[in-house]
Amino acid sequence: MKIIVGQGSCGIAAGANKVYSVLKEQIEHRNLDIELKSTGCIGMCYLEPIVDLIDENGHKETFVKVDGDMANAIVAAIAERQGNSSTIEEVDREILSKQKRVALKNCGIIDPENIDEYIATGGYEAMKKCLETMTPEDVIEEIKISGLKGRGGAGFPTWFKWNAAKQSPGSVKYVVCNADEGDPGAFMDRSVLEGDPHNLIEGMIINGYAIGANEGIIYVRAEYPLAINRLNHAIEEARSRGYLGKNILGLDKFDFDLRIKAGAGAFVCGEETALIESLQGERGMPRLKPPFPAQRGYWDKPTNINNVETFANVAWIINNGGAAFGHMGTENSKGTKVFALTGKIKKGGLVEVPMGITLRDIVYDIGGGIKGDKEFKAVQMGGPSGGCIPAELLDTSVDYESIAKIGAIMGSGGMVVMDETTCMVDMARFFLDFTRKESCGKCIHCRIGTKRMLEILTRICEGEGKEGDIELLEDLGEKIKEGSLCGLGQTAPNPVLSTIRYFREEYESHIHRKK
Ligand code: SF4
Repeated sequence: MKIIVGQGSCGIAAGANKVYSVLKEQIEHRNLDIELKSTGCIGMCYLEPIVDLIDENGHKETFVKVDGDMANAIVAAIAERQGNSSTIEEVDREILSKQKRVALKNCGIIDPENIDEYIATGGYEAMKKCLETMTPEDVIEEIKISGLKGRGGAGFPTWFKWNAAKQSPGSVKYVVCNADEGDPGAFMDRSVLEGDPHNLIEGMIINGYAIGANEGIIYVRAEYPLAINRLNHAIEEARSRGYLGKNILGLDKFDFDLRIKAGAGAFVCGEETALIESLQGERGMPRLKPPFPAQRGYWDKPTNINNVETFANVAWIINNGGAAFGHMGTENSKGTKVFALTGKIKKGGLVEVPMGITLRDIVYDIGGGIKGDKEFKAVQMGGPSGGCIPAELLDTSVDYESIAKIGAIMGSGGMVVMDETTCMVDMARFFLDFTRKESCGKCIHCRIGTKRMLEILTRICEGEGKEGDIELLEDLGEKIKEGSLCGLGQTAPNPVLSTIRYFREEYESHIHRKK
């Protein structure tokens, strides 16, 4: 018999550590033959703390919203060999059945601190396959066939970046993982880091082999201490098995090692050139491209940078073939995408869905609809860089092209749902306030323009808006987009522009209904 406790950050925040302690104490006290284990987030954050019971025949029972008393009751019920389901809510498995898990395949299932559990699911087989049977060119070709695009927001073809780094001259090259997840409401990367760190490590090793790099760096925000601990532990485990370090697998073919750099939490460091500056000990400020990092990156050496979710797809693609990955999704957006579903949604949490699913399916079928059965009003996709999508566009397909067409962006996967009570002007002000504070200050349009836009939004929200303010916001927004150097400034006006586009009457009513 096994008991598994979800101990990702969401579980811990809901009390999973206490549940784990109670279970441990009770199992020891009753001298029961039960293996107590820990796992990461399975995605159903709204039901945490979650406890799985798996018997000798593999039959699984899941208990949700477990507290100390319920933990006691679970152990007592096992001890007495009787069910205890009358006090415990059965988990809604629908939320998982409508998903397709690739990047999250092991999250909430394996113990992230036990490499043997990762290996038992086929872990490190993709790395072995690459090193033993594939050339670096074969690996890049497989990624090309898969159609995988960077999941950090820009959606650039992954194979193209890998190939550019491989083709760049030089014997020293680097692989960098961008784990600087900073969008408000986003926690996709954190869940992979906490729940399946070896999957990321394996993806980075394969990338190192493909481009000819011997060193990798994971740039992870310091606000993710559990993720950093689990990554450190996983790196040590991988080294101890010969999967990292000199002469991997003893094939006299490839050396590769990894280290972690904790970032200090500046949102702009998610931009790859700013991230490189920060890695080098400088202030994180974006620079002009080209040269691209694949040509001149970390210490001016060719560097490939991908985000966590992108790397988390790599081992699956190598194991199952690029064509199998490309078979999922739409013509131009292949595979799956992870979203953090938050806001006024009944079943908030982490979901991974095939590209091409509609927003309605995500919000209603997977997310269970709006809290308190209120009316859906809009969903903000792509965090502070993204746009707001209204109810009449709920049947839009979730893919890079369709989402861009309606004025939003896929982004890294933040999805904040709003109900009929949300003031869209206030929501736009919240996101713009965030980007204004996070602007590095290098470009005038971004530094001053966002400040001016925020002043206008604030006066509108406070009943001091003037005729012409909406047009001024639109004009400023377009100029900031055009005149900014990096993605932060180029996308900062999006929440304002998209809410004006779809909810203009709310702005007008604020202006005309003065104090
Ligand atoms: Fe800095 Fe903003 Fe310019 Fe980006 S757009 S470089 S964040 S000032």
